[in-house]
Amino acid sequence: EPLTVKELAGKLGREVSEVIKKLMMLGVMASINQEVDLDTATILAEEFGVKVEVLPPEEDPTEIPEIEDDPGSLLPRPPVVTIMGHVDHGKTSLLDAIRQTHVTATEAGGITQHIGAYQVNYQGKKIVFLDTPGHEAFTAMRARGAQVTDIAILVVAADDGVMPQTIEAINHAKAAKVPIIVAINKIDRPGANPDRVKQQLAEHGLIAEDWGGDTIMVPVSALKKTGLADLLEMILLVAEMQELKANPNRPAYGTIIEAQLDKGRGPVATVLVQKGTLRVGDIIIAGTAYGKVRAMVNDRGDKVKKAEPATPVEVLGLSDVPQAGDILVAVDDEKKARSIAEKRLAKKRSEELQQAQKVSLDDLFKQIQEGNIKDLNIVIKADVQGSVEALRQALVNLKNKEVRVNIVHGGVGAINESDVMLASASNALIIGFNVRPDANARKAAEAEKVDIRTYRVIYDAINDVEAAMTGMLAPEY
Ligand code: GDP
Repeated sequence: EPLTVKELAGKLGREVSEVIKKLMMLGVMASINQEVDLDTATILAEEFGVKVEVLPPEEDPTEIPEIEDDPGSLLPRPPVVTIMGHVDHGKTSLLDAIRQTHVTATEAGGITQHIGAYQVNYQGKKIVFLDTPGHEAFTAMRARGAQVTDIAILVVAADDGVMPQTIEAINHAKAAKVPIIVAINKIDRPGANPDRVKQQLAEHGLIAEDWGGDTIMVPVSALKKTGLADLLEMILLVAEMQELKANPNRPAYGTIIEAQLDKGRGPVATVLVQKGTLRVGDIIIAGTAYGKVRAMVNDRGDKVKKAEPATPVEVLGLSDVPQAGDILVAVDDEKKARSIAEKRLAKKRSEELQQAQKVSLDDLFKQIQEGNIKDLNIVIKADVQGSVEALRQALVNLKNKEVRVNIVHGGVGAINESDVMLASASNALIIGFNVRPDANARKAAEAEKVDIRTYRVIYDAINDVEAAMTGMLAPEY
């Protein structure tokens, strides 16, 4: 916590004027109520002959301290991939085609298990695919603080081209800073036109390598199962450049991919182990659930005793059903796990009563003044593309010394749930022009505390944002 000059003088038992003078000698011009950072305060105290001891920050009883991994302990790990794209462009077909051609089922009858993610073995290397395609699930997890995806595969149908959800997916991946590989699908179709897809993607900042850009684009057909090997090869190439690593020799850390209550088996959760190794018998905590790993099942239906980094496994033995996006960690003490889980539950309940602090036009100025906001992130939805562009231009130009305006996403159509989740994950507000939120979006916005503003006059929208940025917004009654 930074102290003001006055508080600092009090602690040092000196006159304020003495402290200010000393600060001036150190080259810091400060007034009585100004805050002094820790480094300056330390030097200052030492000048007065006082030894400063920096206390470690107080422990949050609901947090489990992160284990720092020694760089020498890190070993290469497989990449984790999410498939995104417009509806009907072939996301599910592509996931299935890859699964059928590159996963050997070991279970009797040769059926692979659907546990929310699967691992592919290609030329001796592994790749993990998350089984829920689409950017909605991806961003919902991100809104909960989980980042599991290393690479996004953007599926674009060669006969249909770039569509609204294609653009959404691009922006969601960009907001998460996840590299994109484009799979141009349905090249078997008579109307397929990969060049047109490339041209449309270029308009959205994805320029194909053969066009002088750096986005890898692979023509595939999920139906005919062609181009899949090329796609897997490109995933491995991009993964290699990312130098993905994890320490397998430490307590497990992972993310819940999906979870449900099974009638016979109790709470069942699929966890993607990201660091360390999860073992049967480990004491675990995931969100507000805890327990001891009773059994684990992999994506092929095999019972396993351990799961290393980038391995998805179904875990049995939790006390409760965690939420997708919850972080799972292995701890050494069951009592402690239980106590942390209970404290988290209590905290969650009280937080649900209060409002989570998200950006809103009403308190934007205050948040800017307090230094909480340096970037004002906005999602724009409008009835026509021309309005999206007009708003984008005008809003970006509102930037001032304190804040920069970023348009996280701009699209045509009603404000939907995915817009709200993106806004939540990026702490953005949503501006709608001649469009309204649909019922799901309204519900999500309420739960996520996302501010949605709708306008019928562009000038009003710009005016409101500008007024909010400068603290001149008239209160809404
Ligand atoms: P999703 O909504 O993106 O998951 O799309 P689906 O995987 O459900 O595919 C939508 C439709 O496109 C289905 O009828 C598929 O059979 C069809 N489809 C998917 N991939 C291909 C392909 O490569 N070629 C052709 N001709 N059809 C495909």
